[in-house]
Amino acid sequence: LNSIVIAGAGHAGVQVALSLRQEGYAGRIALVNDEPWLPYQRPPLSKAYLLGKIDATAMQFRPAQFYIDQGIELVADRGAAIDRQNRRLLLASGQALDYDHLVLATGAHNRPLNVPGATLGGVFGLKTRADAEALAPLLAQARRVVVIGAGFIGLEFAAVAAAAGAAVEVLELGERPMARAVSPQMSALFRAAHEAWGVNFRFRTAVSEIEGDNGRAVAVLASDGERLAADLVVYGIGVVPNVALALEAGLTIDNGITVDANLLSSDPHISALGDVASFPCLQNGERLTRLESVQNAVDQGRLIAARLAGKPAPYTALPWFWTDQGKLKLQIAGLAMGADNHVVLGDSAAQQVSVLCFAGERLLAVESCGRIGDHMAARKILARPPALTPAVAAAPGFELKTWEA
Ligand code: FAD
Repeated sequence: LNSIVIAGAGHAGVQVALSLRQEGYAGRIALVNDEPWLPYQRPPLSKAYLLGKIDATAMQFRPAQFYIDQGIELVADRGAAIDRQNRRLLLASGQALDYDHLVLATGAHNRPLNVPGATLGGVFGLKTRADAEALAPLLAQARRVVVIGAGFIGLEFAAVAAAAGAAVEVLELGERPMARAVSPQMSALFRAAHEAWGVNFRFRTAVSEIEGDNGRAVAVLASDGERLAADLVVYGIGVVPNVALALEAGLTIDNGITVDANLLSSDPHISALGDVASFPCLQNGERLTRLESVQNAVDQGRLIAARLAGKPAPYTALPWFWTDQGKLKLQIAGLAMGADNHVVLGDSAAQQVSVLCFAGERLLAVESCGRIGDHMAARKILARPPALTPAVAAAPGFELKTWEA
């Protein structure tokens, strides 16, 4: 291969480029970046960066000189179409990049809020550095904040807003926070913590309208009939994979760009990874799965780079994830889909808890709050089919950190 073109310079795209050089690939690497900054990490956008604890430079993966030194061309442009016949990525500027292999790392965009008033001033999704920069000065002045969606990003933001002194209301369609991703036990712990920080939850509640005055949001009308005054509204109701390029090029799509175990799309000259890719996930019964996490973007990036450098292997990495909310850190190893049996370790009063999620006798995932040792142990244990059973885990004195398979 002489020319590898990567569309999208987020976690996944940057990792492919870095790993290609680490693997010894010496050909051309063009990394197409459609955001107006050096490539940066997203997790601080809803945490340290919003709190003013770190500046924008600290979010960058690497300084500009690094890309020059590594011979990674940062192309400030946007992929507009793929000419698969001639292996060319056509760019929005009218230029084109010829490829021997194309990597689609286009990520996802926020699911839009489809209610009247969603485009008023003071209403934000939180996905890009531009979002965070527009939001931060308003947050400093906001007195009443409404958060729509009690997923990870909504809750991270709720904790930041509460810490900034605002009164925070969280509207959530489901019955508990982070219901899609964590156990009822862990939801309960985080619900109680947020409530102690002054966050008020309204479950089984949708937003029906955002009321404006002079183009700015002033209130949220909730489906329970309440009118919640708001000077800032932030929504986090999920994301939609950026599949337009792939779709128009005729690649197979199924909740993301469909890839095989080697992360190859339905065109053998095109790979896809990260938030935009649907891959057969070992930990989810090899069902097509799309994960939204740094771990997934990074590990898939390494795997694609290794394959392009001549070392192919199927993707089997264990999914893991973290979220920081207020003073609490939640870490998850594995995927808990289908769990029907939970064993809780630790001390709820001290907010130091691990929830072991089993399907029958099989350990699927471990959620740890304030128990980093458990999380690290869980990543080792889950890396191979684990032999830990609920009976053993529930025995008095059981410690995950010292358990040996
Ligand atoms: P992205 O990082 O979204 O990058 C995709 C890039 O492609 C973007 O720059 C996009 O503009 C660009 N692009 C799109 N279309 C085109 C095109 N046609 N041409 C060129 N470029 C294009 N994960 C965790 O594990 N832990 C966390 O605590 C955590 N916190 C998060 C907080 C926030 C606020 C957000 C938004 C995400 C968070 N995540 C977290 C998720 C994590 O950041 C993503 O899973 C990860 O960034 C995915 O990487 P990616 O490269 O696939 O996509």
